[in-house]
Amino acid sequence: MTENQAATVLQILKKTLALPSWTKNKRDPFETLIVTIISQNTADTNTARAFEQLSNRFKITPEALANAELPQIEEAIKTAGLYKAKAQTIKQAATGILEKYHGSLQPILTLPLEAARNALLQFAGVGPKTADVVLLFSAQQPTVPVDTHVNRVAKRLGFVPENGDYEDVRGSLQTLFDPTDYLAVHLLLIAHGRKTCKAQRPLCGQCPVNTYCPSNGKWSKQ
Ligand code: SF4
Repeated sequence: MTENQAATVLQILKKTLALPSWTKNKRDPFETLIVTIISQNTADTNTARAFEQLSNRFKITPEALANAELPQIEEAIKTAGLYKAKAQTIKQAATGILEKYHGSLQPILTLPLEAARNALLQFAGVGPKTADVVLLFSAQQPTVPVDTHVNRVAKRLGFVPENGDYEDVRGSLQTLFDPTDYLAVHLLLIAHGRKTCKAQRPLCGQCPVNTYCPSNGKWSKQ
């Protein structure tokens, strides 16, 4: 797909899908990190509940969570899937930020993009998507986090190579779109994937960008 066609698809998605209002506010980077860790393979409602319970029990700061007992973190985020592994990641990240960065993510967030990503990826359990979400949402760094919806929809639309891995997809989207649109690209591909371009049975007949999509109707022929 050409840059012009991709820009047209993005314009249509901007007109047909509303961006959530919270995206206008810059989010606290440590809170973003914790929410994103909790959200992995977990529905939004359960993520919100787990984060609320964690916030009720602890201050969401590196110091408080580094000093918290692991079983108490586990208990607080129990509504999220894989809560034991996530509790461990949260405690390890909080401890690392406290010990290496004096309890603040700011020194990482102000690094150039790739150096900042590498620094975040040093924390056990923090993967590329989590790092990119923190950098995009809390530091306005020019990166496109790739979750399961972004990956699927971008490939179906022909934005990125079919067999591309995480870095291929991120790189292709960043080449195709202007950095000022990276947040919109991330959020709109997720929204479109949830509402229309569903994993099992995409609703191609109702899709507002079907005339531009090389995968249009592929499922009706199966
Ligand atoms: S036409 Fe179908 S496959 Fe293409 S983006 Fe729309 S829903 Fe997805």
